[in-house]
Amino acid sequence: CGIVGYTGRRQAIEVAVEGLGRLEYRGYDSAGVALVGPGGLAVEKRAGKLANLRSALLSRPAPPSTTGIGHTRWATHGAPTDRNAHPHTDCAGRIAVIHNGIIENFAALRAELEDAGHLLVSETDTEVVAHLLEEFAAGGLAEAMRRVCLRLEGAFTLLAISADEPEVVVGARRNSPLVVGRGDGENFLGSDVAAFIAYTREAVELGQDQVVELRPSKITVVDFNGMPAETRDYHVGWDA
Ligand code: GLU
Repeated sequence: CGIVGYTGRRQAIEVAVEGLGRLEYRGYDSAGVALVGPGGLAVEKRAGKLANLRSALLSRPAPPSTTGIGHTRWATHGAPTDRNAHPHTDCAGRIAVIHNGIIENFAALRAELEDAGHLLVSETDTEVVAHLLEEFAAGGLAEAMRRVCLRLEGAFTLLAISADEPEVVVGARRNSPLVVGRGDGENFLGSDVAAFIAYTREAVELGQDQVVELRPSKITVVDFNGMPAETRDYHVGWDA
């Protein structure tokens, strides 16, 4: 439902929770964050209001990290539980994914992954994406995301981070919104501009069927075929 991504110089947990707070108006049933730092991947997620996630983070503070993602979930597949909350991770716990929308062919993908030995632990349509990214991980996270998107049917905004690329957030979209926020030595992703409006008003509109690789000082966008993609820069007005 609500999506935030960040890489830069601030503590990613603060950017993620602040952004999720601004997306609360959309309604949701669970909230979660994933961070990547020197110690690998850290995930915290809770059913219920953002306040539940905040108090979980108070009792188990997030490790220092300048790259992370945050999600508020509006459940479509699987009850609103801690386990079904996003982010979802791969078997090795090195890749974390958040998702808005519905993966229509998730049941077939899940069966294929389970046949290949993957253990899936949630009831969501989303979790298959983390495991597919693990399958394709060798070429890097952005390339893995592009290849995974070619396997997916339905509408989705996806964000992923990997312990192997601690300064990268990858996003993808099809029939579901995703906006880039351009900062100075930091960059943002959001399901809408409210996710990063506290930090920047310089935005980049993505087109349909595109993958974006976000680094602190670089934004790279390709289409699902891997070709460099057209994007449009714009300034977010004060009434946003
Ligand atoms: N279909 C996913 C789920 O049920 C994502 C829902 C959403 O857009 O928040 O977990």
